[in-house]
Amino acid sequence: MTPDSGKIPYLPEPIAGLERVALNLWWRWDRRARLLLRNIDPTIWSATRHNPVAMLRQVDPNRLAHLSRDKKYLADYARVMEELDRAIDPTVGWYPETFPDLQDATVAYFCAEFGLHNSIPIYSGGLGILAGDHCKSASDLAVPLIGVGLLYSKGYFDQQLDREGWQGDSDEVFDPKIMPLMQIHGPDDSRTVAVLETAGRPVHIGVWQLNVGRVQLYLLDTNLPENDPADRELTYKLYGGGQEYRLKQEWVLGVGGVRVLRALGISPGAWHANEGHATFMMVERLREYLAEGLSFDEAVQQVRARSVFTTHTPVAAGHDIFYEDLLDSVCGDYHEGLGLDRAGFMELGRHPDMNHGSFHMTAAAFRLARHVNGVAKLHGQVTRELWTGLWPGREQEDVPVVGITNGVHVGSWMSHHLMILLDEVYGEYWEKNPPEGADWDRILELDDHRIWETHRLLKRTLLDFCREQARQRWKTFWKDTTHLVGAGTLLGPEPLTIGFARRFATYKRASLLFKDEARLRRLLTDPHRPVQLIFSGKAHPADDEAKAVLQRVWRASREAQFEGRIAFMEDYDVHVAHRLVQGVDLWLNLPRVPMEASGTSGMKAALNFVPQLSTLDGWWAEGFNGENGWAIPKAEAEGDELDAIDHESLFTLLEREVVPTYYARDARGLPTAWVAMMKQAAIVGGKDFTTRRMVKDYTERFYVPALRGITEGDDPPTDAVVIGSGSAGSIPTGS
Ligand SMILES: *Cc1c(COP(=O)(O)O)cnc(C)c1O
Repeated sequence: MTPDSGKIPYLPEPIAGLERVALNLWWRWDRRARLLLRNIDPTIWSATRHNPVAMLRQVDPNRLAHLSRDKKYLADYARVMEELDRAIDPTVGWYPETFPDLQDATVAYFCAEFGLHNSIPIYSGGLGILAGDHCKSASDLAVPLIGVGLLYSKGYFDQQLDREGWQGDSDEVFDPKIMPLMQIHGPDDSRTVAVLETAGRPVHIGVWQLNVGRVQLYLLDTNLPENDPADRELTYKLYGGGQEYRLKQEWVLGVGGVRVLRALGISPGAWHANEGHATFMMVERLREYLAEGLSFDEAVQQVRARSVFTTHTPVAAGHDIFYEDLLDSVCGDYHEGLGLDRAGFMELGRHPDMNHGSFHMTAAAFRLARHVNGVAKLHGQVTRELWTGLWPGREQEDVPVVGITNGVHVGSWMSHHLMILLDEVYGEYWEKNPPEGADWDRILELDDHRIWETHRLLKRTLLDFCREQARQRWKTFWKDTTHLVGAGTLLGPEPLTIGFARRFATYKRASLLFKDEARLRRLLTDPHRPVQLIFSGKAHPADDEAKAVLQRVWRASREAQFEGRIAFMEDYDVHVAHRLVQGVDLWLNLPRVPMEASGTSGMKAALNFVPQLSTLDGWWAEGFNGENGWAIPKAEAEGDELDAIDHESLFTLLEREVVPTYYARDARGLPTAWVAMMKQAAIVGGKDFTTRRMVKDYTERFYVPALRGITEGDDPPTDAVVIGSGSAGSIPTGS
């Protein structure tokens, strides 16, 4: 089966390899490749929001002909092509050097969303970005990972705010022609690669391939003419419909994903489900082992030995639970292939505290995966607490769940200008062989002035970006000038600028800032030491409470009382996120502890020398060291009372510490104490919160033992769940 291409109409022979560069997202995190593409036509580059496929389709052929004769360009081109060859060679890198006996292995990584580039809108937020960064670091480290996900052909959704700031939703613009996606054809040239059954009829699955450096991502698509019209829609929207739609999507991802890999001749030795959406992948493998003749206990043991499960949800209500009749209608008699009756199948997903008759995706994953983790140290602990019921009588600390803290991908998130600055201490192109551990302390050697000037440049870039966004909206949507204020056109380069950008979920508490408007107004409009706030984020389409908070922020950005010092940037995505985490002075994060499992936007800010102010939740509970930002102390309260205490702490910190530190300048106008904090932010971010560190952790602790198929020392759940009505077997009790 071969992927097709032909997306890029014409390239002169001397630079024909640009097609390979454009069709591998590797360019996104390689400085030279990025420049090579940008230099083709900086204006179109910017207008296409850095989409090389779209750019190459638009660029003037004369320009390409000119470049193909330009000596300097050809030299740059040759270097990038060489670098690309090295970047996709599976035999060089940390993994093959460390585990030479496991070079031919494959790790399959399943996730419902992947956030890789703004031109491929198949993610909604943190989970997807994390999955994207995971793939990129796996590529850098030459870990033999492949990704499996769904291609949402109508994307997530575009944010359309009405005249009152209420979020309506429309389909995202999605055109596979301008994406680096390649359709894989089956042997007879049909688009069907695998088939599964749902609701009593076959669903044909097509596959698109996306190259992320060395890593291939396979995206499943049911929008094929062979399918029933209802089934064609199954992969239209991310988190789009109700329970039934969601269950079917997870069925396609899990069961369909395994079958697609089999059809492509790929045999992973380790299988990672990133969040419970992918649990059916383990169930399908259980079915395969049983079909091979293993006993139920042996099959479960094999699945467990090779499965990795990462949970991201610290609250009971956030997990996927499906009711029996729904499972019945979607999965039909699939359970027979497991040698189970219907009740036995339901037992696989039984939650210890819940009634029979519901299938809990996380509970099933705990039963079928030996290697389980939460996404920060604190979240590991919260997860052990939530799931002790599966090991009755155990102390919480003995529940076999670890914390592997999330990270972010340096090459994707650190500004180009800062990378150049770091060349001074680490050498040119240092990110190819990045500093480890204490090497990051060498950031202290950088000149304070240079850091500050680079930061000011990035801040101006952000403000220019706000203005350009405002101009675009003015042209197409808005006819009322107050919107220009709300979009940030009155923001200036001098005031302390605070960024708050994330999904508008109520637990993230953007509302905390508005609890006492008079106090907020005093903070923002201080004539000598003003403060600016930039917000961005989408609310989940079904979350009206979050939409109301968003609307409050949106209105505030247009209110004269705040004197143009609050901005709301519409349509938060990776592109907007880049500008924000690189250009603000302070990153603000206000989750209600312990609702934020990890949080990664603050890590992106930190890598860009931007300190964070946050509650001690998620990564900040371990990342805050007293010198890299500020922490709202942990309060022993709940609900409104907790909000009141945190609000007071937040404003006290802002008024007494943050603002005075930012405005304390030396004779040359340099905020020395602030810059010291900026350096600490970058040092801590680089040392402990990159996906390079994270993927190494997953590899050493989970993937390698899974690839070796080690079954000794397994410590499965011991809640007395008996599978089936008697004969089929039981969830192992440590045999
Ligand atoms: C990083 C990122 C997120 C996740 O940020 P949190 O801090 O976890 O809220 C969400 N959306 C986008 C576009 C991002 O880049």
